[in-house]
Amino acid sequence: MQERDKERLIAFRQELHRYPELSCQEQQTAQRIVTMLQQSGVDEVHESIGGHGIVAVIHGRQPGPTVGLRADIDALPLQEMTGLAHRSAHANVMHACGHDGHTAMLMGAALDLVKTRPARGQVILIFQPAEELGTGAPAMIKDGLLERFPMQAVFGLHNWPGVEAGAFVLHDVPHMASSDDFEVCFHSEGGHGAMPHLTTDPIVAAGLFVTAVQQVVSRNVDPENIAVISLGSLQSGHASNIIPTTARMKGTARCFKPDVRQQLERRVREVAEGIARACGCDVTLDYSPSTPAVVNDSTCTKLCREVIEAQWGHEHLVSHPISMGADDMGYLLEAVPGAYVWIGNGKGSDAPALHQPDYDFNDDILEKGSDFLAGVARHFLDNNDQVLDNND
Ligand SMILES: [Zn+2]
Ligand SMILES: [Zn+2]
Repeated sequence: MQERDKERLIAFRQELHRYPELSCQEQQTAQRIVTMLQQSGVDEVHESIGGHGIVAVIHGRQPGPTVGLRADIDALPLQEMTGLAHRSAHANVMHACGHDGHTAMLMGAALDLVKTRPARGQVILIFQPAEELGTGAPAMIKDGLLERFPMQAVFGLHNWPGVEAGAFVLHDVPHMASSDDFEVCFHSEGGHGAMPHLTTDPIVAAGLFVTAVQQVVSRNVDPENIAVISLGSLQSGHASNIIPTTARMKGTARCFKPDVRQQLERRVREVAEGIARACGCDVTLDYSPSTPAVVNDSTCTKLCREVIEAQWGHEHLVSHPISMGADDMGYLLEAVPGAYVWIGNGKGSDAPALHQPDYDFNDDILEKGSDFLAGVARHFLDNNDQVLDNND
């Protein structure tokens, strides 16, 4: 990458960082992306797909297969505490997950692919909104992303603090968890704290539920599988001598396999209903499926490995444990084979984690991330004759 493009990308990334926008509100961000895409010379730019989503198309020199590259563009509701010159200008909004960097790396790939066009096929650049809510990818899919721009594979990059800057992590197993949210509420007619025998007690029911739900993972899920259920909210009552009418809890269920996912939902339901019966309370349960697990296709993982080894050498591939965190790239990978790769954002005791107020994307990995995305697109287009044959 030329020095001039590098500087341009860093300036673009820092501008995105300075003006972050929350999920579903990415108007200005989208505008900045569209302007830079138009300046870069891509062949087509399509706006407002699934909200503030943008798709750009780059044609190769000959017809051929199609490959997608995806970046997320939204920020988080968090007050930045970095003190950097390019720190967020918006109170309580911050690019604390590095989506500004992902956007800039995809833009860098666009600059590269326009300058040196792929020999054949086309590249679809997907700038996806609302990742932090897990709603952006399904919204783009629902809005016809995959019908309007049919692609044979899709690739993406997420930066990863705690991994050496610029090293890549490639997983052959599902590596980001499925994530489902639930809300359980026990209902009673309430009553006097001195006369519990005249009513039913939702706080006792909630207490039993908090304990019993811990046993779903330890007693029901096969120890071979990984799963987590956590409660993040418990609300009930306000006075020492009043038995309240409700006790409400919110939680999240994470795992890596569809059958375990179903099992968690079924057991949370059974536990809540059983406890309600035992306590004589009523119960309502709202179980909302969110993102599926992120699962790489083995052929696409192999292709990424080849690109990394050819371009930088085997030592730039490192191993790192899977994450119980979720990413709505899982929806895209459910529909199209592909791979979601992690690129190290830097490690050491002073390397803040994702979603922390002192986090910042590492500009030193911008060029490498861009080169990787462009390299993967080229490598895929050059090596998929089968798709070409099918089209003939
Ligand atoms: Zn995030
Ligand atoms: Zn993220």
